[in-house]
Amino acid sequence: MGRRLVVSVILERERAGASSMAEQVLRNIGPIVLLGPPGAGKGTQSKRITEHYHIPQVSTGDLLREHVKQGTALGQQVGELLANGELVSDHLVCDIVAWRLREPDAQRGFVLDGFPRTQKQAAWLDSFLKFEFLESGKWAAWLPIVVRIQVDYNKLLLRITGRRTCPTCGTIYNVYSKPPRVDEICDLEGAKLIIRDDDRDEVIRERLETYERQTKPVAEYYERLGGL
Ligand code: ADP
Repeated sequence: MGRRLVVSVILERERAGASSMAEQVLRNIGPIVLLGPPGAGKGTQSKRITEHYHIPQVSTGDLLREHVKQGTALGQQVGELLANGELVSDHLVCDIVAWRLREPDAQRGFVLDGFPRTQKQAAWLDSFLKFEFLESGKWAAWLPIVVRIQVDYNKLLLRITGRRTCPTCGTIYNVYSKPPRVDEICDLEGAKLIIRDDDRDEVIRERLETYERQTKPVAEYYERLGGL
C-alpha cells in the first residue's frame, strides 16, 4: 500500500466515527505506531498525522539525538551507538518512552516513530499501554493502530543518501526528490543544511540490516495480534 494511501486510511477510519470537525480533532485517538525501515518516511508521515489530530510525534531517534546534542549522561552513553547505526539497549529506550508518554500533551494520543524496534520493546509497550489505559482512561484504546511502510531497497538508499536537514527548524529535504531552492540552504531559515551522522554511506547498510533482523519480527508480532 502506498504511503499516502496508508495515512489517508487512518484519517478516514478516524473520521468515520466523528460527527464534527471539532470532535474529530479533539477526541482521544488510539496510539499510532509507524513501522518501517530507515528512510521509509516515518517522520514525514508522522508529521501529517500529528498536524491533523494535534497529538505529538514521539520519535525515539529524535529524543536520543537531543540527549546527544545536549551532552546529557544518557547522550554520552548512546552517542557512539547512534553514530554507528546500532540499536540502543531496550531498557534505556523503554525508559525514555515511558517518560515521554506520560507528558500531558500525549494524553489524547500520540504517534510513535522508531519504536518499538525489537520484540522486547513491543512486549514492553503492550503492557505499558494496557496498564496506563486501564488506570487512567487516556487514549482511545490500548492496542495501537500499526502502520507498516514498505519501500523498495534502492529507493531507500536514495532517500537516505539524499536526506538533508535544517539544523534550525528541522525541515527535511532530499537532494533528489525535494531539493531546497538554493543548493544545501534551508528555504525557510537560510541555514546550511546538514547530513545526519548516521546517514553516511558506511552506516546505512548496518541500519538496514539491523532493521531486517530486529524490526521485521515486530511487524509480524503485530500482524498476529491484529493491530496491523
Ligand atoms: P532511522 O529510522 O532512520 O534509523 P531513527 O531516527 O529512528 O532513524 O533512529 C536513529 C538511531 O537511534 C538508531 O539507529 C538507533 O541507534 C537509535 N534508536 C532509535 N530508536 C530506537 C529504538 N526503538 N531502540 C533502539 N535504538 C533506537
